[in-house]
Amino acid sequence: MSLRKGEALTQQGRILIIGAGPTGLGAAYRLKKLGYENFLVLEANSEAGGLASSYVDDKGFTWDIGGHVQFSHYDYFDKAMGEALGKDGWLHHERESWVWIADRFVPYPFQNNLRYLPNDLAAKAIKGLVNRPARVPSPTQDFGTWIDQMMGTGLKEMFMAPYNYKVWAFPVEDLWYGWVGERVATVDLARVTENILLGKDDVNWGPNNTFQFPKYGGTGAIWRAVAKQIGENHIQLNTRVAEIDWQKKIVTTKDGEKLEYDHILSTMPLDSLAKTVTPELPAVSEASPQLKRSHSHIIGIGLQGEMPEKLAKKCWMYFPEDNCPFYRVTVFSLYSPNNVPEPETGKYWSLMTETSESSAKHVNRETLMEDTIQGLLNTGLIRDRSQVVSKWSYVAEHGYPTPSMERNNLLGKIEPELKKAGIGSRGRFGAWKYEVSNQDHSFMQGVEWVNATVLDVPEVTVRFADTANAMWGRK
Ligand SMILES: Cc1cc2nc3c(=O)[nH]c(=O)nc-3n(C[C@H](O)[C@H](O)[C@H](O)COP(=O)(O)OP(=O)(O)OC[C@H]3O[C@@H](n4cnc5c(N)ncnc54)[C@H](O)[C@@H]3O)c2cc1C
Repeated sequence: MSLRKGEALTQQGRILIIGAGPTGLGAAYRLKKLGYENFLVLEANSEAGGLASSYVDDKGFTWDIGGHVQFSHYDYFDKAMGEALGKDGWLHHERESWVWIADRFVPYPFQNNLRYLPNDLAAKAIKGLVNRPARVPSPTQDFGTWIDQMMGTGLKEMFMAPYNYKVWAFPVEDLWYGWVGERVATVDLARVTENILLGKDDVNWGPNNTFQFPKYGGTGAIWRAVAKQIGENHIQLNTRVAEIDWQKKIVTTKDGEKLEYDHILSTMPLDSLAKTVTPELPAVSEASPQLKRSHSHIIGIGLQGEMPEKLAKKCWMYFPEDNCPFYRVTVFSLYSPNNVPEPETGKYWSLMTETSESSAKHVNRETLMEDTIQGLLNTGLIRDRSQVVSKWSYVAEHGYPTPSMERNNLLGKIEPELKKAGIGSRGRFGAWKYEVSNQDHSFMQGVEWVNATVLDVPEVTVRFADTANAMWGRK
C-alpha cells in the first residue's frame, strides 16, 4: 500500500504506545514523520530511554546500563540518530576488545588470535579444531553442540563455555544456537594457523568494529533527544500501565486514568504484559513466565589518577575466568572524555562492569560491589583501592532475553494469541528475541510496527531476524 499522509492516516484512530525506550520511541518517531498526530506514549519512568538510559552519580561520573556501543543495520536508524544529536554530537571509535585469560590480554575474536596464548593452550585449541566434527548445525541445535562442531573441545573448555556461562547465566547446552549469526566469529582453521605462523593480528571481525557514542550525556542523551523531537504532548511520563482491556480497548494506568485506543503497541516485557491483559489470555499467561532471562548487574567505578597505559586503547574486555564476578568491563571514560567529572583536568577515568544473574547462576547482591573491586584488583585493572573515588550500581531485572532451547516454541504460543487480541508486543523483552534486541533493532521494530499498522507494510526485523541482520555492511 502506498504511503498516505495527513487526514487519511488520522482516520486509523488513536494509537497508544506503552514504554518510551528505543522501541516505543521508534514507533512514535515514525508516526511523527508520517504526520500522524493521534498517538500517545505512556512511560512508567520519569524519563525516556528505558534500558538505554544514562545516569550521573553524585561524584559527577556518567554511566550507562552496561556499555552501550551503537552500530547499525539500517539507513533509517542512522538518519534518525544523525537528526537526534547532529553531526557534532557524536564521537566515533574503532573497536578494540580483548579477552583477559591466563594472565594476559588476547585480542578479540579470541579464536582468531591464538598466538597470544601460552603454547600449551594454543596447542589444545588447535587440536580441538583439527578434531572437531564440523557438521552443518540443525535448526533446533543447542549452542553447546554448535561450539563443539564449529570450534572443537579445546576452545570450548578454555573460553566459549565458561565465558558464555558468565554472560548468559545459563549453561551453553540450555541455549539455542540460532542467535549467534553475526555475534560469534566462526573459525577458519587455515586462517587461524596462518595467523599463528605469520604472527598476524586478526581483529576486524563483526558489525561493531566501529561504533559511535554521544559526546555528552551517555547513551541516554540520544533517547532524551529523540523524545524531545517527538514532543512533550505525545509522551506521558510517570505513567505505569496497570491493565489493558483488549476487548473494550481501554488501558487503565496505575493512577486509575482510563485511555481508549484503536491500536496498541506494548514494549513492556512479555511476562509483565501477561499479568496486565484482561480478560486473561491463557496461552500468554502460561507460556510467558517460562521464557528465560537474566538480570544484569552494572557497577560503575570512578577512579582517580592516571589510567594505566595498557588500557589506553581498550574499549572493553571479556573475562571468562572465575577470578572476578564480571564477564565484561568497559573503559567508559574512553567512550567519551565527558563521562567523568572535570574532563579538562584528566584527573579521572572510569570502568564499568557487567555481571549476570539468573535462576541458574547465583550472585550475592550484598557483596557484589566488594567482589567487583576485588575482581578488578585480581585482574590487574586497578592497582589499589585508593584509586576508587566513586561507586555506582544498577540492577536491570530484565537484562538479557535468553535465547533458550524452548524459546521459539513458547513464542509460537504467545504471538498468535496476542495478535488475535489486537496487541502488538515488540522490543527487547516485548518480542524476547535477543538476536534483534539492540538499540537499532528495537527502534526499527517500533518503526516497522507502525508501517505495518497504518501502511500495511510487512515487518521484517521481528519476523526475519537473519534478514534484518544481513543488512549490515550493505545498507
Ligand atoms: C547490559 C546491557 C547492555 C547493552 N548493550 C547494548 C549495546 O552495546 N548496544 C546496543 O545497541 N544495545 C545494547 N543494549 C540493548 C538496549 O538497551 C536495548 O536495545 C533497548 O533499550 C531496548 O529497547 P526497548 O524499548 O525494547 O526496551 P526498554 O529499553 O526496556 O524500554 C521499555 C520501556 O517500557 C517501560 N515500561 C515497562 N512497563 C511499563 C508499564 N507497565 N507502563 C509504562 N511503561 C512501562 C519501561 O520503563 C521502559 O522505559 C544493552 C542492554 C543491556 C541490558
